[in-house]
Amino acid sequence: MNTQYNTNNVFYKILQKQIPCNVVAENNNALAFYDINPQAPLHVLVIPKGNYVNAVDFFSNATSLEILDFNNLIIEVVQKLNVVKGFRLISNNGTESGQEIPHYHMHILGGKQLGKLLDN
Ligand code: AMP
Repeated sequence: MNTQYNTNNVFYKILQKQIPCNVVAENNNALAFYDINPQAPLHVLVIPKGNYVNAVDFFSNATSLEILDFNNLIIEVVQKLNVVKGFRLISNNGTESGQEIPHYHMHILGGKQLGKLLDN
């Protein structure tokens, strides 16, 4: 899987404040914001502030603090948005998964009864 980071991607530009986003929460090493095309009533993206292409890149190369801050931000988001009935975490990695933006991100989905994990 290609782990060559390309700065020409939307999330890099969001982190550089070149394009806006609707922030939910952030800490030193991660940013959470609403997905521009929500697939559920609650659809938030959590991204590391460091340049990582995908989960393999992130979990292989990020520092322990970066990984901790990323995980803590997910917890902060679900607590802040009061997702008491459950939520789903999805991370697409690589072309066959449908990953569109080559900067590692976790989707947090919820706010309704979610369907099966995969369409096919
Ligand atoms: P993926 O297909 O897993 O790479 O997910 C990329 C996600 O980024 C999609 O759900 C898009 O709707 C979302 N997205 C793309 N551009 C933006 C943006 N400018 N602000 C917020 N979310 C975005």
